[in-house]
Amino acid sequence: MKKFSILLLCLLLPGSVTPPIILESALSKTVSIFAPSRPLRHIPNIAVSSDVELASEDGITSLIIPSVPVIERALIISYDGMRPDAIAAAPMNNLLGLINGGAYTMTNAVTIAYPSTLPSHAAMLSGLCMKQNGIIYDKYYKYMGYSKGVDIFDLAHGSGMRTVMIVGKDKLRQLAEPETTDVFEVRYDEASIAQAAVGQISQGFGLMFVHFPSPDQVGHKYGWMGISYLKMLRNGDDALGNILAELDRMGLRETTLVIVTADHGGHDKNHIGLVIEDFQIPWIAAGTGIVPGEINASIQTMDTAATVAYALGWPLQPDWVGIPVYEAFGESRLNVHPEDINWPCHQWN
Ligand SMILES: [Zn+2]
Repeated sequence: MKKFSILLLCLLLPGSVTPPIILESALSKTVSIFAPSRPLRHIPNIAVSSDVELASEDGITSLIIPSVPVIERALIISYDGMRPDAIAAAPMNNLLGLINGGAYTMTNAVTIAYPSTLPSHAAMLSGLCMKQNGIIYDKYYKYMGYSKGVDIFDLAHGSGMRTVMIVGKDKLRQLAEPETTDVFEVRYDEASIAQAAVGQISQGFGLMFVHFPSPDQVGHKYGWMGISYLKMLRNGDDALGNILAELDRMGLRETTLVIVTADHGGHDKNHIGLVIEDFQIPWIAAGTGIVPGEINASIQTMDTAATVAYALGWPLQPDWVGIPVYEAFGESRLNVHPEDINWPCHQWN
């Protein structure tokens, strides 16, 4: 019988609540990850990051599995063009309920320096700036290929999970390769999108991305924060309620990490990056292990990918700009974003 080394690290980290179970991994060499308090899933041919090393003995790596309920899947919901201050103004009561029981910030999260739909969503799901993932235009140019780098759809699919993308704009096809999205569906209104999402929940999923397009469309036509814009957000909130109800009905709510955010905000009838309201986005996380309360740390939209990876035990990628929002799990940040730039992912970043 092999002897395993239990790390001093697990005593130091708040994530290990009860005596950990040590598992024998199929990995053949020492694994390095940012945060050893969570189990690391082995995904073939995917590199891992190297901030903290787990000790191993006889070539066997010890992984620590928390004995508390764990996150088993992730659902990311993006409201296109939703300003943080619109949530209470609408009001979006289902989302306010999620905020009340979740970790959130309405003031500290921003999208990239080019606050537009396709590049912002690519950063959100890839953990990379647009220069790295190659999605530099707010239009689907097929010749430019899909988002480059290892994104969370690569990681989810690589770990054998069912992956789903239900979006309200065709151009979001460029966010992930068809090979890594088991389901990709375009619907054009909130109720229909929620209906499709509910159908997918009942079939089971590991990673689902849901995109509600209408706040942006109404904002461009009638103005951000106007009556029509807020009404559309209430429609989107009803759609959220239907999705959450299905998670409840299926008994999946507790073990699903739900992140609600946006690709950008907006002002007047646009979001071209003139004012902070164009860049600011809401960021809300709920699910087991999430510590309710306001997050004080600065969040960039690339952190969404990193947070999902962290919660699900996928390897954080060495080239990711995104950092897990450790505060949402009641943990300290092991790394921070540089403070010497106004907005993340300027072309020189
Ligand atoms: Zn947008």
